[in-house]
Amino acid sequence: MIYLDYHSTTPVDPRVAQKVLWAMTDGFGNASSTDHEIGDAAEAAVTVAKRYVADLVGAAPRNIIFTSGSTESINLAIQGTIQYLENKGIHPHIALSVVEHKAVLDTCFVLQDQGRVKLSILPVDAQAHIDLAQLEESCASGIHLICIMAANNEVGTIYPIDKIAHIAQIYDVPFLCDASQAVGKIPIHFQDWGITMLSISAHKFYGPQGIGALVVKRGHPLEPLLYGGGHQGGLRSGTLNLPGIVGMGEACRLREIEMEEDERIIGGKRDIFQKLLIEKIPGLVVNGDQENRLAGNLHISLPKIPNSAIIARVRRKLAISTGSACSSGVEAPSHVLRAINLNEDIIEGSLRIGLGKFTTYADVNHAAIIIQEAAMNIQALL
Ligand code: PLP
Repeated sequence: MIYLDYHSTTPVDPRVAQKVLWAMTDGFGNASSTDHEIGDAAEAAVTVAKRYVADLVGAAPRNIIFTSGSTESINLAIQGTIQYLENKGIHPHIALSVVEHKAVLDTCFVLQDQGRVKLSILPVDAQAHIDLAQLEESCASGIHLICIMAANNEVGTIYPIDKIAHIAQIYDVPFLCDASQAVGKIPIHFQDWGITMLSISAHKFYGPQGIGALVVKRGHPLEPLLYGGGHQGGLRSGTLNLPGIVGMGEACRLREIEMEEDERIIGGKRDIFQKLLIEKIPGLVVNGDQENRLAGNLHISLPKIPNSAIIARVRRKLAISTGSACSSGVEAPSHVLRAINLNEDIIEGSLRIGLGKFTTYADVNHAAIIIQEAAMNIQALL
């Protein structure tokens, strides 16, 4: 089986798994148990991990709140900010892009349905870029929160987060950046760029599933989603997920050292794969912004060949996807592909391919042949 679905999740790096195992066995303590050394060791391990997470995104350890992943981080950021504003008697107005992940979109839609927020949804162009002038106009009209992702989970488009943060600062609007697909792939400078909140998910960069963080600028007011033991400054109660945190810390440490070189090599393999597919399959279309996308992203369409027919033929040999994992199982066409205005043929034939650091040249060559054979097989039936 060749795994090419790295946007959905990544295999855990064996060096990360070693640390997780340590935290589940020898280092198993509760980081809040201050009455003995086993608790102290767990707390020390959390402190070390927090430093690695902070370093990777240019933040300080005090900015880090550990969560169960990006979905929770995003909910804490949006609901926590909105609840605080409501407590002050403000009816909040959120600006968000139309290509945000469902974790952002659905949280905002539910708040809108409850009559608690007003939404301004920013459109994108054919390559999934937002118009910064339009964002600025929105801010000028009075916005209380901006939600824009750092990189798109379907077509891989990378957003100018530094420029967006700059606009947000001019108008003094808090800015939530969903960086789930970007952290560990491209440089992020939380403090220098002036981002207010940043969501991270460890399983997107060779860490464990079910652990992530919300990075929060000091002084940004948030109400918690969960109440209980008052962990993490009262913002996220619940015993800390030590194996997850230690694993995430190690994954961040490794990314900091290896990201640049790994991403350069991954981008090279992606380009070879793209070239092979274009050569082998007439009419193949590459979607998104080819000049400005994640190194591991390859989003293609085989016009007139339904993606479900391709998946049915390759699924035992090749792990690729028709869209984002979080919404597969739901039969609706991708909101991202709709937003970039692709025609129905192209949407129906779309496949998301994600390469990562364990993808080999042999995988790329073999996968191109598997997809070509499936396409020829279907074309013969048409
Ligand atoms: N945001 C983006 C852009 C994602 O790609 C994902 C996961 O696919 C999420 C948020 C949700 O992350 P998690 O699965 O860690 O909750």
